[in-house]
Amino acid sequence: MNSPVWMPYTQMKGASVPLVVRSARGAVLELEDGRQLIDCISSWWVTLHGHTQPQIAAAIAEQARRLEQVIAAGFTHRPAEDLARRLKGHLPFVPHLFYSDSGSTAVEVALKMAYQYWRNQGASGRRRFLSLEGAYHGDTLGAMSLSARSLFTAPFAELLLPVDFVPFPQTWIGDQGVEEREVAAIGHLEGLLRRSGEQYAAMIVEPLVQGAAGMRMCRPNFLRQVADLLSRHGVLLIADEVFTGFGRTGALFACQLAGIQPDMLCLAKGLSGGFLPLAATLCSEAVYQAFCSDDPTHTFYHGHSYTANPLGCAAALASLELLEREPPPFAALEGWHHRELGRLAGHPQLCRLRVCGTIAALEVRGAAGYLHELGPRLKQRFLERGLLLRPLGGVIYLVPPYCLERAQLEAAYRCIAEVVAELCS
Ligand code: PMP
Repeated sequence: MNSPVWMPYTQMKGASVPLVVRSARGAVLELEDGRQLIDCISSWWVTLHGHTQPQIAAAIAEQARRLEQVIAAGFTHRPAEDLARRLKGHLPFVPHLFYSDSGSTAVEVALKMAYQYWRNQGASGRRRFLSLEGAYHGDTLGAMSLSARSLFTAPFAELLLPVDFVPFPQTWIGDQGVEEREVAAIGHLEGLLRRSGEQYAAMIVEPLVQGAAGMRMCRPNFLRQVADLLSRHGVLLIADEVFTGFGRTGALFACQLAGIQPDMLCLAKGLSGGFLPLAATLCSEAVYQAFCSDDPTHTFYHGHSYTANPLGCAAALASLELLEREPPPFAALEGWHHRELGRLAGHPQLCRLRVCGTIAALEVRGAAGYLHELGPRLKQRFLERGLLLRPLGGVIYLVPPYCLERAQLEAAYRCIAEVVAELCS
């Protein structure tokens, strides 16, 4: 196909022809040529309840007939107000909400807010940020600055903001060394804060699971220690829940599970149930108050054309409605993952098996790194077997939509074991 579309994260030279998707329902994608694929990664980790979920589709259609878009400065509408109130009910420590349109913009807004928060109070020396090794927070320049220095950021190294990175004490099932890694990471952070705590505006974390790093997981206790240390040094904490929000980690928000109350919290991806680009940056009363002033230079001069888009907000409300049901639609997946991973324990080619809520990951031994040649070969074999999986190098992960049936999940794990045996023995 001679397509004019330049694909994201794709070397276009020699790129394989993209698969044309005709329609989708639940966890299943239907291709133009009639083949079906089980979507085990919720598209780009966005599809919470399944593709074309009827209540969300209906809410968008209804909203489109009433009000599709309106300028968000000086105007508001019911879906934007209702959604902000509903989210505040779940996250009362960050009661003010600023809308944008992607995970990257949600992070960019948090970064700018944190920086200006200090400036507005005359503390303009707080210019540096803290982040975790392996972090990924988006592709705009600010969000990229907060992300680990990597293949993705290398061409832009000279344009990035000053950020110091703290080790991420990742863990997995049966791991014996995590405490030691946590002590080292906390010691590192303590050292930075003791030496130059007054230089930092904020620290950003992906709570409990680092997505793009390869579904690396940490323990709640580590995050509580980080939050305590930052609060003692007066440094703001930003939780990037772009990926972990809305049930992914087994609670509605990872911060609830971790027992932390950040000063800012970023949402996107699953916010609209995976239907429309919508994002939000939530902040504490103290952060918000630092911008309320008679001085015009204290204003947060930031906004996007599609800020608080009514269709996105209507989709998000319908999605939240589904998430608030009892039992929550994401409740069963953790147990199913554990059972399936239990069957793979002791597999000679697999290691570092791990689960957090609906997210599961495992690694092929000796295949570390995003560019490891095994990744594309695994992906191709999975596609041929009817599975959409997108390994990050040798890390195979599952982030399914919550409607995935148990039999579909079991089939996916069986296929993973067979493909690994075929390609890696
Ligand atoms: N933060 C995290 C934790 C993410 O996983 C991502 C996307 N993978 C982003 C931010 C950026 O989101 P977007 O792709 O919507 O800009």
